[in-house]
Amino acid sequence: MKTMKAVVFKRKDHVAVEEVPKPTPRAGEAVIRITTTTICGTDVHIVRGEYPVKPGLVLGHEPVGVIEELGAGLDDTYAVGQRVIVGAITPCGQCFYCLNGAHSQCGGALGGWRFGNTINGAWAEYLLVPDARANLAPIPPELTDEEVMLCPDIFSTGLSGAESGNIKVGDSVAVFAQVRSGCAPRSGRS
Ligand SMILES: [Zn+2]
Ligand SMILES: [Zn+2]
Repeated sequence: MKTMKAVVFKRKDHVAVEEVPKPTPRAGEAVIRITTTTICGTDVHIVRGEYPVKPGLVLGHEPVGVIEELGAGLDDTYAVGQRVIVGAITPCGQCFYCLNGAHSQCGGALGGWRFGNTINGAWAEYLLVPDARANLAPIPPELTDEEVMLCPDIFSTGLSGAESGNIKVGDSVAVFAQVRSGCAPRSGRS
């Protein structure tokens, strides 16, 4: 079995770099070789034990990388070696919620956030992407990986909030912020 290095949640206040199985894609899935990623405020809550995840889970939900392997049914759209980001939210794209535009609620309330929450995340050498057709976004050649690193969640969460609030360019708005909340899932995004 091939293995890879990953940051694993062990218990409250304890993560560890461990050797874990390298994922293999099934039909409709992709494996991404992570080139860069970052830490979200939500990860801090997880490590502090304020948001429960299972011990043994690989954390991280800000994936930037290169397609390493494609499962069946994807090579008409994507290619091995292609640079991509993957959203922190990985909706199926086909359920009632997705088809009504509520991707963060895929499959049920707050069900869209999976990486580093209910499935292994991006703090690893490789990442298995479910429903790849709904979740891979090619990186334009003129942008570096570092320049798009905040797009999978931190930037897109704010943009999504502005869209949900129907805020338009030029509007005046008041922002009510919580000091420690990061982008906690209560907002509907991770
Ligand atoms: Zn869905
Ligand atoms: Zn996040």
